[in-house]
Amino acid sequence: MFGISSLSSMLVERNPAEHYARDPSAPLHSFTGPEVGAAVLADPVVWQAAALNTLLRNATPEHIIAAAQEAVEPGRLAVVSSFGTESAILLAAVAAVDPCIPVLLLDTGFLFPETLAYRDLVQQRLGLTDVRAIQPNAEEIAGEDSEGNLHHRDPNACCAVRKVRPLAGALSRFEAWANGRKRFQGGGRAIIPLVEADATRLKFNPLAALSREALGARFRALDLPPHPLERNGFYSIGCVPCTSRTAPGEDARAGRWRGRGKTECGIHNRSS
Ligand code: SF4
Repeated sequence: MFGISSLSSMLVERNPAEHYARDPSAPLHSFTGPEVGAAVLADPVVWQAAALNTLLRNATPEHIIAAAQEAVEPGRLAVVSSFGTESAILLAAVAAVDPCIPVLLLDTGFLFPETLAYRDLVQQRLGLTDVRAIQPNAEEIAGEDSEGNLHHRDPNACCAVRKVRPLAGALSRFEAWANGRKRFQGGGRAIIPLVEADATRLKFNPLAALSREALGARFRALDLPPHPLERNGFYSIGCVPCTSRTAPGEDARAGRWRGRGKTECGIHNRSS
């Protein structure tokens, strides 16, 4: 288990009023920065996320996961993983903190067999005890994608029924979740904080600040197993119909939804 006693003083009340009742002399900007505004004060989750984001700005991924676990009731933190090429780095940090933390894999029905085998390998190697496959609702699939070609006709609708809605249902039992996005991946990910509010939940991005080089160094230092498709030129791996090889010099995510004008599945811009 990862030592987290040093984090006790870093926990933040969900209600700013409680914070001031405890320490009315502490200026708000000491927790949230000078950009704090009315929206932060009005929403307890936004408040807590902003405060944790500031307090954890120099924390390691392991400390961030430990803080996430301490910030919610026992058993109310989940980690979402695609079991892709870099996923083992986040999962190793999870295992170091608490291998019993639930890990959710969105099993769309279109995952590579190699990804499912890699899930089993990583789960065993790291000793993760609660890896869950989250599957789409069968009735919704029958109604919206009975022929299994929605990904071709409307990939956003396909991601909605196979990823976004199943994850929303799975997360309804949790108060916080963590994921493996990095700022160096660019696009909308370039500015993600370490901690953010996701409607009524806290959302932790423990790897956000790490460079590509730092991630590679962690992967090697921990002697983590590579995803079997990486040796074949797949550097960002999702569903079979929407994943292609990445050419030399291309961004790692260039192989996702190639030519479809789509760069994200939608789970990171849910509204609930
Ligand atoms: Fe459908 Fe492709 Fe999204 Fe997978 S990645 S859910 S196949 S559109």
